[in-house]
Amino acid sequence: MAIYFITHGPPPPVDSKPPTSLPATTMGRKLDPFYTNNFTRLKDVHNKSKRNMFKCNHCGTELEHRENRLAQHTTDATKCEKAPPAARTAAHTLMLQKATTKRTAGDSSDEDEGAEDEDEQPQKKKQKKQKQAVLDGFVDHPMTKDQAKAANVKLLRYLIHSNSAFLNAENLFLAEFVNELRPSFKISSRTTMSTLLLDAEHSRVHLDAVKTLTSWGRSGTLLIDGWDDELHRSLYGTTAGKVGEPTVVMGLQDLTGHRGSSKSIFEAAKTSASTMGMRG
Ligand SMILES: [Zn+2]
Repeated sequence: MAIYFITHGPPPPVDSKPPTSLPATTMGRKLDPFYTNNFTRLKDVHNKSKRNMFKCNHCGTELEHRENRLAQHTTDATKCEKAPPAARTAAHTLMLQKATTKRTAGDSSDEDEGAEDEDEQPQKKKQKKQKQAVLDGFVDHPMTKDQAKAANVKLLRYLIHSNSAFLNAENLFLAEFVNELRPSFKISSRTTMSTLLLDAEHSRVHLDAVKTLTSWGRSGTLLIDGWDDELHRSLYGTTAGKVGEPTVVMGLQDLTGHRGSSKSIFEAAKTSASTMGMRG
């Protein structure tokens, strides 16, 4: 099957509905414009967690605002069919930024908008004392937040590409190894690894793939194939190919229970294209 892409063109303006009477903040923190442009805050929700409920402006789905829930909804064409390409890109950009501007080293992954920027330089704590202490031929210079984040992202890539469980981020022997190299470095928790950092990494890869696809214009070929995995799920993968270029993965869908008809396969391909920010 060969279908040609429709090029992206300039992103359409994001549907910016006039804000509701509620202020664009949760618990006094200012919300990123992505949330206000794509979601409407619902008032008077008395749920246990005391977090805010939001309604998607594109499809009407109601969601609790925590971690990357709202952004993930917008990026996924299987969850939100109607989000425009610009909104999907904005959601990915937000998830990527969250991991680069936040404190990262081993903290919890609780949602936290507009985290205050502390000093870029690591603290020079107890400098005087250190001078007088026995150096043992080794001084550990604390890493900046950006350096620590970059290191944790690299560790995350190792976990992903070695097919290791995120649990291994908390393995005692890994901690001992890191401690040997750099005692002040704190490995991110498995939760941070599997939420905040993984989301950011996914968004980075996604935005990169979209950029590649856009640069191809109409010259790529859509490839779709299905197979059964070990759990006997019927999976359909959609990719884009071009001679001499690495294949771009556009999506993988579980069509278990659907007939493998040309119609459902076509729908799966359309959903993948939508997830990649393409307009039909
Ligand atoms: Zn939606």
